[in-house]
Amino acid sequence: MIQVSSPDWVRLSFGADMVLGYSPGVFLKGALNTTINLLQYYPDGCKANCQYCGQAREVAEGPDCKTLIRVEWPLRPLNDVLKRIKERQGDPTYGIQRICVGQLAHPRASPDAIEITKRIREAGIEVQISELVTATYTFRRHMEEMKKAGANMIDVAIDGASKEVFDNVRGKPVRSMHSWDRYIKAIDEAVDVFGRMNAGIHLIIGLGETEKEAVDLMLYAHSRGAKLSLFAFYPEEMTPMEKVKPVPVSVYRRMQLSRWLIENEVVSSDAFEFDEEERLKDIHLPSDIKVEDLSPAFMTSGCPGCNRPYSNERPGGVMKNIPWYPSKQQTLRALKATKLPSLVSMVS
Ligand code: SF4
Repeated sequence: MIQVSSPDWVRLSFGADMVLGYSPGVFLKGALNTTINLLQYYPDGCKANCQYCGQAREVAEGPDCKTLIRVEWPLRPLNDVLKRIKERQGDPTYGIQRICVGQLAHPRASPDAIEITKRIREAGIEVQISELVTATYTFRRHMEEMKKAGANMIDVAIDGASKEVFDNVRGKPVRSMHSWDRYIKAIDEAVDVFGRMNAGIHLIIGLGETEKEAVDLMLYAHSRGAKLSLFAFYPEEMTPMEKVKPVPVSVYRRMQLSRWLIENEVVSSDAFEFDEEERLKDIHLPSDIKVEDLSPAFMTSGCPGCNRPYSNERPGGVMKNIPWYPSKQQTLRALKATKLPSLVSMVS
């Protein structure tokens, strides 16, 4: 009997499924995933209980709930997926730049991520590989093995901006086993093993943090050598957070801009001004900065080539992570949306 489970089977993000020709079509405005996102699959499901996630133990009630970021992630045999990637690598029609090996919180997560990475390289695939890890099941020795197997980058999916937010959405208070301290430690391990800016964090904006908490975590992670991948919270149906509003565009634009300024060391911590509710009030920018300089702030952030079209919103609305280089018009709109006086005065 065939056992349908990782490492032999993986889920594919909806966009990756289209790029590999399993599902027909392309996203609105011709957006194509330039990263193939693979997600592990286990018949006994994810062991954690993150309140915003469709894979969470108490939401999914086993492996058959397949949604993540609101869409199904079809289950495909790894060998066939690798064959299709190999056929398409280097072909500009598909533009595949990266494969992301994503973990569930499961005791098999790390050994299987290592095995999947090995099989990608054994199949003769040369595109870059990222590991998206859950620190609860991934330790330094696993990271070393991942690198040895052929991975180029790694992100630690901390998601929450502060210990309190983290605990409230994925720690003990919600019957989940993740620990903030372990995740913080894993950032240093990841940077040690993969090198500065080859390791990073995933941070979701809109899980209940203040803007100051998000900026502080970004400053901290950057000071440790980690790159910053930002996500905008959008509620997933059937989860405990399904009624929580998506993060407002103004908040997300402020955080995107902050991320870009921090990561590129354009400003230091004292440039950020907050009000008494820890909302960002303004950013003191260098006087020679121009509107065009700020365009990349609003692109999808993360590993190079990871554009994740429509993974933070429904097609048709405002694109929070812009999956290509923004036009001047898009940049002006985004800067205006920050509602920060020094940015708004640049565009008016
Ligand atoms: S930024 Fe993209 S490729 Fe990198 S770990 Fe995150 S999802 Fe994967």
